[in-house]
This record gives sequence, structure tokens and C-alpha cells, in this order.
Amino acid sequence: MALEHNYPLQTLNTFGLSAQAEHFARFQSIEELQNLLAQAERPLMILGGGSNILLTQDVKGSVLKNEIGGIHIIEEDDQSALVKVGGGVVWHDFVMWSINKQLGGIENLSLIPGSVGAAPMQNIGAYGSEIKSVFEELEAVHIDSREVKIFNNEDCQFGYRYSIFKGELKGQFVICSVSFRLSKIPQFNTSYGAIEDELKAMGATASLESISQAVIAIRQRKLPNPKDIGNSGSFFKNPTISNAQFESLKSQFPNIVGYPNGQDKTKVAAGWLIEQAGWKGYTHQDAGVHKNQALVLVNYGQAKGQDILKLSQDIQASIQQKFGIALEAEVNII
Ligand SMILES: Cc1cc2nc3c(=O)[nH]c(=O)nc-3n(C[C@H](O)[C@H](O)[C@H](O)COP(=O)(O)OP(=O)(O)OC[C@H]3O[C@@H](n4cnc5c(N)ncnc54)[C@H](O)[C@@H]3O)c2cc1C
Repeated sequence: MALEHNYPLQTLNTFGLSAQAEHFARFQSIEELQNLLAQAERPLMILGGGSNILLTQDVKGSVLKNEIGGIHIIEEDDQSALVKVGGGVVWHDFVMWSINKQLGGIENLSLIPGSVGAAPMQNIGAYGSEIKSVFEELEAVHIDSREVKIFNNEDCQFGYRYSIFKGELKGQFVICSVSFRLSKIPQFNTSYGAIEDELKAMGATASLESISQAVIAIRQRKLPNPKDIGNSGSFFKNPTISNAQFESLKSQFPNIVGYPNGQDKTKVAAGWLIEQAGWKGYTHQDAGVHKNQALVLVNYGQAKGQDILKLSQDIQASIQQKFGIALEAEVNII
């Protein structure tokens, strides 16, 4: 299989940043991937939909784009179906497929950009759901040995926007397919107030279709569409701090937004911190903070990856100074 050289990545990342891959190829099966792994120059970067990366420079070595397709029901009974999905399938297409088949569990995750193969990387989540609750196992190829390995739910060590593939096993495996256990018995999760309100406004009762439509409508209102304004969704994770630090901040900033996270920790809304520090709507030479959503950094057209990186570092420094909180990037900085 031939690799292409000096391949432009601008249309392959949702920030719309201009960068080149020294070598580039697409793969549509595990065998094609294994062949590429045997010949591709290192370092390697695996690319899905490019919706969670910040390209700060040209990419040295080889970029391999996952285009493994296929959605198959592997087994089913009265209660559930086990569905195996190719890593290159677009996540939202899979969500739409599941709703069409009346299989529940991922409707709250409608319209999250990106590929199925990248979804376990950070245990994608939204509106009170995360993929770990429907995840059964994944099939991955070890980059050095080219052997296929199966990881079950426990092996993946899922956490908030985290899996072992972002930690101990970072850069070691290519996720080729993911299997999900979806439910035939409705168990709707409308605990996120915005979903309830949206359903009311739609005059709809809870169903897989209506929840998905509600989530899509809320997301389209709240988040900039990368086709119009380059972005990678939430740039930072919501930080977790001790209850003691939260109480102390609350005495200074009574409106601070936080949610209990385990016994003695509080998860703080990073968007609130960034907005309070005055960054919402800030722009400098096409790199900016979105005007409606302070957690989303944007490229208004000609920004460079380095401009967005610098902006993110300035925000981190200002949040550290004002609140004593270290913000961690959710986006993978390349
Ligand atoms: C508008 C917008 C809204 C978003 N909303 C959400 C949200 O609500 N919740 C949420 O969790 N995320 C959200 N995201 C982030 C993003 O959609 C997810 O993280 C998504 O899973 C990224 O998929 P991708 O295929 O685009 O990954 P990429 O950006 O291509 O890759 C991300 C990382 O995973 C690695 N990688 C990709 N595929 C594989 C593979 N098959 N094997 C091994 N490594 C791989 C890459 O090397 C890179 O480090 C949003 C992004 C945007 C632009």
C-alpha cells in the first residue's frame, strides 16, 4: 500500500488548521492497517474525524486515517443487542442507525462529531451519558507487534474523558472496532434539565427519537458548527477540586458552578471559570473564545495552531491566578 507524502490535513481537522502530514494513508480493514504498520515511517499518528486534535505544527512520520466501516448485530435476545461497529464509522451515523433499529443507550450522545474508533479514547460523554455504560469490548492492533488484542470494559479503565489509551497505553494501539450492548427496553435518561425543557417545548414525550432530536436541537443552538467556525468542542476538561477548596472559592465567588464528584470532591464548570475571567468572546487574530460558549476555542479562519495553543495557555495561566485551579486540555495537542 502506497503512502502519500506532504499530505494536507486542513480539511481533516475540525479546527480547520493548516498542517501537512509527512506521510499519509487510509486503511479500511485490519489487514490493510497491519500492512501499513509494517512499512510506515515512525512516529505514527492515527486519525479519525480530527474533531479532538489541535495541530500545532506539521506532523512528522505517518498519519494513518481509520476508515474501517460496518455495523453488525453480533447477537441479540429480547432485552438487548450486541453491535460491532467499524472504527471508521462516523459516530453520529451509528447513533442514527441505533435509533432506527429502536436500540437504546446512545441517544443522548447524538451529534458528537468524530469516529467510533476514537469514542473509547476519551469515553465520550454528553447530557448525563458516557459510552462506558454501553461499551462491551474493542478490538485493537498493537502498533509494534501488529497483533490484535481485545479489551473489555474493565481493561479500558474508563473515567471522565479518560481511558487507558490516553494513559498507560497512549500511542500503543489502533482501535479498529468497538462493540456496544444496546437495550431493547426503553430506559430514557432525561435527568439533564435542558432535555426535559426541550421535550416540553417540542410537545413530545420521551422516546429514542425525541430525546435524540432534543439533544441535536440543544447542541445546534449552543455549539458552533465546525463547518462554519473551526473548533474542537470543549477545549478543557471540567476540573475536579477538593470540597474544601470549592467552599473557600464559594465564599469569594458565590455563583461558582460545581457538582459533587465522589465523597470529598467537586467538579467545577470550566466554562464558568473562563467566562468569569473575562475570556468569553475574546479574539486575537482569528484565534478566539466562542461568544456563547466559553469552553470552546475557535479558529475564525486564518488562525494557526500555535495561536490557539498560546490562547489556551494564557487562559490556563489566568484561571490559575484567579481561582488557583489548573485547567487541563481535553483536546489532544499534536
Ligand atoms: C463541535 C464539537 C462538539 C463536541 N462535543 C463533544 C461532547 O459532547 N462530548 C465528547 O466527549 N466529545 C466531544 N467532542 C470531541 C470529539 O468529538 C470526540 O472526542 C471524538 O470522539 C473525537 O473523534 P475523532 O474521530 O474526531 O478523533 P480524532 O480527533 O481524529 O482523534 C482524537 C485522538 O484519538 C486518537 N485516535 C483517533 N482514532 C483512533 C483509533 N482508532 N485508535 C487509536 N487512537 C485513535 C488520535 O490520534 C487523537 O489523539 C466535540 C467536538 C466538536 C468539534
